[in-house]
Amino acid sequence: MENFEAAEEVGLEDPASVLMKAERAVAALRRFVSAAREANANTFDPAQPNADQRALHGFAWAAVTCEALAQLYGWASRSDAFGEGEALVLRIGFGEYLHQILGGLPMSQNEFVRPGDYGAKRAAADLAADLTVRWFLGHGNGTAARALLVKHLTQGWRPCESLGDEVLDAIREQFRRFTAERIAPFAHGWHLDDALIPDSLIGEMGALGVFGICIDPAYGGLGLGRLSMCIVSEELSRGWLAAGSLGTRSEIAGELIAGAGTEAQKAQWLPGIASGTVLPTAVFTEPDIGSDLASLRTRAAQGDDGSWHINGAKTWITHAARSDLMTVLVRTDPADPGHGGLSVLLAAKSRGTVSNPFPDEGIDGSEIPVLGYRGMKEYALSFDSFSVAGDGLLGATAGNGFRQLMRTFEGARIQTAARAIGVAWKAFDLGLAYALDRHQFGKQLVEFPRVADKIALALVETVLARELTYFAARTKDAGQRSDIEAGMAKLLGARVAWSNADAGVQIHGGNGYALEFEISRVLSDARVLNIFEGAAEIQAQVIGRGLLSGGGPS
Ligand SMILES: Cc1cc2nc3c(=O)[nH]c(=O)nc-3n(C[C@H](O)[C@H](O)[C@H](O)COP(=O)(O)OP(=O)(O)OC[C@H]3O[C@@H](n4cnc5c(N)ncnc54)[C@H](O)[C@@H]3O)c2cc1C
Repeated sequence: MENFEAAEEVGLEDPASVLMKAERAVAALRRFVSAAREANANTFDPAQPNADQRALHGFAWAAVTCEALAQLYGWASRSDAFGEGEALVLRIGFGEYLHQILGGLPMSQNEFVRPGDYGAKRAAADLAADLTVRWFLGHGNGTAARALLVKHLTQGWRPCESLGDEVLDAIREQFRRFTAERIAPFAHGWHLDDALIPDSLIGEMGALGVFGICIDPAYGGLGLGRLSMCIVSEELSRGWLAAGSLGTRSEIAGELIAGAGTEAQKAQWLPGIASGTVLPTAVFTEPDIGSDLASLRTRAAQGDDGSWHINGAKTWITHAARSDLMTVLVRTDPADPGHGGLSVLLAAKSRGTVSNPFPDEGIDGSEIPVLGYRGMKEYALSFDSFSVAGDGLLGATAGNGFRQLMRTFEGARIQTAARAIGVAWKAFDLGLAYALDRHQFGKQLVEFPRVADKIALALVETVLARELTYFAARTKDAGQRSDIEAGMAKLLGARVAWSNADAGVQIHGGNGYALEFEISRVLSDARVLNIFEGAAEIQAQVIGRGLLSGGGPS
């Protein structure tokens, strides 16, 4: 382990001094984002939002990366147990991301954006001239620092995850135990069998309150905040993405109804959603309409008796067969082809079975075989005058569906970011365990620097993305608009989950490609996070435009 010994002197850097440097670097990063924002605001034409997507999305990615560092510093400064390991996470995170901001940020595997692409060359030069930034560029993410971090990991150390709140820490502990006992040992078998999540597990999760975390206790929920929801989703997803994803649909339906429903709709649906006896499904995407939801075509018209009738096709509907309630985005005003003609219907349906997945009249569906994300199954649906009760129009007023849904996406994207963090942890756990277990050339894999480097960065990036996610949750919990923060968290979380999974497979060598090994499941699960709940390109667009309009963190 000669690389570890050579690294010892890195550990002599006083953690408090790294923390102080990070604080100053955050101030420099804030100035950088502010200058880049000004440069882009001067050139961006809202009338032609796609004219220079590279500049807008590049700026968005730079802002996300800067905010992740700011939140990493926040984590470090709040950590009760800030020690040498945490200081290494801080210096490697700042060192790596500062280099990426200045030299080329990966917006995807093959798109790198540099400050000149978004008019921030001058701002980048100022950033690079800052003394603490220079320190991190020179000393942050070095071979020795990474080796020392991995040495800590091999000795059982893990970065501080306490939220400084006994209740939140107890929730994490409870769901970590539940996942270890009830989910992790069985997840891969369920995945390989392409089985539905067992009803009994759904029942257990319902009893634990998973489906009503953010629902008001007056309607049977726990009345906790998004931060609690993040911790639960992260821990469940660390066992299996499907388990962490069951609650997504309840979160969407719960927030739609709590935020926009009539009192009668709240009383009718929220208690069942909170207990898990009502399983909702989110019905938005259509065969030709995905990202551009405002253009969707599925129609709903009201009959003489007041009931609604849906006609059209939807696709990619997760858990459609085994659900009891559909939140369906439909066009209720055919004269308005934009978002003003859309409404959300709360459509009751019968729960399907394997032999008869869609027993109701007027709805049919076929399963879409998928790479991963199993456990709930995805369906293409067709509606042929499917009937919805007259009081099923969300909020009892037509034309508000798109706005209602966009508000809901804040919570759903934060929850999806937390799912990504769980997947990222799982990939990290599996990669590290394999690197400790497997020997080549007479050594543990973890002793080879290229293997250790992957593990070190997987850890650091997971903490970065986790802290950005918690920040988005705190913003939402504080009652503030959080679409930009939620988009930031989802954007980075999904990239990190994918890169950790890819690194995990690489560490497993040929075994990583074998279905038998769990990391193969994690790879296919991780891939979807960048596609649903708003694809990465759409998140970057939302973030970029939002920041240029003066929103977002400052
Ligand atoms: C496993 C899975 C489960 C899903 N579950 C559900 C569900 O339960 N309910 C539901 O309603 N939907 C669900 N979806 C659908 C998902 O939300 C959509 O796939 C997603 O919104 C993207 O839409 P699309 O597939 O039509 O891609 P498109 O919108 O056709 O986009 C294709 C590509 O083009 C890019 N692109 C599109 N527009 C732009 C632009 N303006 N600028 C730059 N790039 C752009 C996208 O980012 C993407 O990379 C699910 C999808 C999957 C894969």
